Amino acid sequence: MNHTIVMIPGDGIGPEVTGATRRILDACGAELSWIERHAGLAALENGSDVLLPEETLDTIREHGVALKGPCTTPIGGGFSSVNVALRKQLDTYAAVRPIRSLDGVKTRYEDVDIVVVRENTEGLYSGIENVITKGVITSLKVATEPACRRIAEFAFRYARSRGRKRVTAFHKANIMKLTDGLFIRCAREAHEVRYPEIEYDEVIIDAGCMRIVRDPSGFDILLCENLYGDVMSDLCAGLVGGLGVTPGANFGDDANVFEAVHGTAPDIAGKNVANPLAMIMSAVMMLNHLAETRDDPSARAAAMRIRDAYNACIAARERTRDLGGSLGTSEFADAVINRLDA
Ligand code: NAD
Repeated sequence: MNHTIVMIPGDGIGPEVTGATRRILDACGAELSWIERHAGLAALENGSDVLLPEETLDTIREHGVALKGPCTTPIGGGFSSVNVALRKQLDTYAAVRPIRSLDGVKTRYEDVDIVVVRENTEGLYSGIENVITKGVITSLKVATEPACRRIAEFAFRYARSRGRKRVTAFHKANIMKLTDGLFIRCAREAHEVRYPEIEYDEVIIDAGCMRIVRDPSGFDILLCENLYGDVMSDLCAGLVGGLGVTPGANFGDDANVFEAVHGTAPDIAGKNVANPLAMIMSAVMMLNHLAETRDDPSARAAAMRIRDAYNACIAARERTRDLGGSLGTSEFADAVINRLDA
C-alpha cells in the first residue's frame, strides 16, 4: 500500500535531520511517496510572503500525514509562531512525546518510560496578549471545556490502547483555579465515567517536576495543558539523553504531523553534527500510525526494521556526538541504513 507523505524540511538543522530520515525511510522498504512543502523561514526563502502558506496546509489536509522538521519563527516583527499556527489550523490537538531510556545511552536513570500528552491548541499559546497601559501587559490563558475534554479523552484512550496503567495530570489549579481547575475536572470525569480501570492522579506541576527528576519510575502518562506539556517534554528529554532522542507526533481527527521535540538548533545548523534520531523515531511513530489507521502491516514491519537498526547502532556506539559518539548526521543515517538488513 502506497502512502503519500508531506515532507516539510523546516529550518536550521531541519533539512539535515529530515534528509537523513527520508534516506532511511526510502531504504527500509516502506511504500512512501513524498510531496515537499515549506513552512517557516524556508517558506519565505521559497517565494512565499507568509511563514505558513495555505498550499502547505491544504496539502497536509489532503494527504493527512506530514513529517516535519523544526521551523523558525522570527522573533519580533509581528510574526506569530508558525508551529502554533500549524497545530491550530490543522487542529492537531494532541501532542504525544514518548520518552524512553535507550539501551546503551547512560544517563542518571535506566528504564524511563514516560509519555507526555500535551494539549496543543489553547492555554497560554492562544497568542492573546494585550498592552493594558505603558509597562503593563497581559497574556490570556484560554481553557475551553471541549478542548479539555478531548485531550483528557485522548490521554485515557491512548493509555487503554497501549496497555498503560496510569495517567497523571500536571496542573497548577491551586493558583489558576478556573482554567487549570477545568482541565483537571475534565480529566477526573473521563477517568470516572469511561476509564475507571486506568489509574489516575494529579500533581501540582512544581512538586511534580521535583518528583520526576528524583524518581521518574513512578510516572507513566503525563497529561498536560499546552505550556506545561512544552516544559515537561524538554525536562523529560533530559532524563533519557536529551533532545536528540525525543520524538513526537501531533494528532488530530483529520491531519497528523510527526516532528521531533527539538527546535532548529541554530548553534549547530549546517555542520552535519545534529542527531537525526529524534526525527527518525518520529518517522517510526508515523509508520506505526499508518499501520494502525490504514491497516497496513508492511508499515509496521518497516517501523520495526528501522527501530531495530537504530537500536543496534546505538548499542554498537555508532552515535552522534550529543550521545558521546563521533558520527555526523549523514554518517549516522548511513549506519542505520547499513543495519537495516542485519
Ligand atoms: P533547540 O531545541 O533548537 O535547541 C536547544 C539545544 O539542544 C541546542 O543547544 C541545540 O544544539 C540542541 N539540540 C537540539 N536538537 C538537537 C539535535 N537533534 N541534535 C543535537 N543537539 C540538538 O531549542 P531553542 O534553541 O530554544 O530553539 C531554537 C529555535 O527553534 C527557535 O527559533 C524556536 O522557536 C524553534 N523551535 C521550533 C520547534 C518546532 O519547529 N517544533 C520546537 C522548538 C523550538
